[in-house]
Amino acid sequence: MTAFLIPDNYQPRADLLAGKSILVTGAGDGIGRAAALSYARHGATVLLLGRTESKLEAVYDEIEAGGGARPGIVEMDLATAAEENYATLADNLAGELPCLDGILHNAALLGERRPIADASYGQWCEVMQVNVNAQFLLTRHLLPLLQQAPGASIILTSSGVGRTGKAYWGAYAVSKFATEGFMQVLADELENTSTIRVNSLNPRGTNTAMRRAAYPAETPTDNPSPGDIMGAYLYLMGDDSAGVSGRAFDAR
Ligand code: NAP
Repeated sequence: MTAFLIPDNYQPRADLLAGKSILVTGAGDGIGRAAALSYARHGATVLLLGRTESKLEAVYDEIEAGGGARPGIVEMDLATAAEENYATLADNLAGELPCLDGILHNAALLGERRPIADASYGQWCEVMQVNVNAQFLLTRHLLPLLQQAPGASIILTSSGVGRTGKAYWGAYAVSKFATEGFMQVLADELENTSTIRVNSLNPRGTNTAMRRAAYPAETPTDNPSPGDIMGAYLYLMGDDSAGVSGRAFDAR
C-alpha cells in the first residue's frame, strides 16, 4: 500500500485550531502528549483522555503554563471501560460543548511480541479492546457531537505492521489492520451524509516508550521525538485537510 503524505513544507497557521474542541486519547505520554500540547498551542481546547491521572495532570499543567485554553481531563482505562462509561462521557460532553471538532485516536497497547502459536488469548483480547473496540465505542457514542461541528476530523493511528503483516507482531499488527478497516468503512459511510472526515496516520518510528519496548536494540535518539512529527497531526486535524477523507497517511 502506498501511503499519502501531507503537502511538502506544510506550515500550520498559529491559530489553526482556534475555537475547536479536540479529544486526544493516550494524551498523557508519547505521541498523544505531544499532539495534545501541539493542538493546544494552535488554539484548541483539548480533552485529555488517558488512564494515568498524574500524567494527564502534568499535560494539563503544561498547557495552562503555556497560556493555552484550559483543557479537560477524562480519566478512563480503555481496557476496562464498559459501554455505559462511553455513553456517560458523551452525555457529559454534550452538556458542556456545542460540538466536538475532532478525535485523535492514539492510545494503544503493544502487547506481547510472540508467534501466534504461543500467543496468550488474554493479552490478545486486551490489545483488541484498547486498540480496536475502544475506538469503535468512542466514535459510536461521540458521532452525534462530531456531527454538530462544521467539519470534524477523526484521526485513527496506524502502524507499518497494520499495512503489511510481520512475524511476531501478533495482536498489535492485527489491531492496526482493523484500524485501517474501521477508517475505510467509517469514511465511506460518512462521505455523502456528513462533513466529518476520517483518515489513518502512521507516525512511523518515533522515540517513545512503546518504540523503545518494541526495539530495545535501537538507539532511541535515532528516531525523531514526538514533537518532531506534529505537522501531519496538525494538518489532518485542522481545516487545511478539509475534504480529505478515507486515506491512509504516513507522518513523514
Ligand atoms: P506510548 O508512549 O506507549 O503511549 C501510549 C499512550 O496510550 C499512553 O499515554 C498510554 O497511557 C495510553 N494507553 C495505553 N493503554 C491505555 C488504556 N488501557 N487506557 C487509556 N490509555 C491507554 O506509545 P506511542 O509510541 O506514543 O504510541 C502512540 C500511537 O502511535 C499508538 O497508537 C501506537 O500504536 C502508534 N505508533 C507508534 C509508533 C512509534 O514508533 N512510537 C510507530 C507506529 C505506530 P499511560 O502512559 O498511562 O500508560
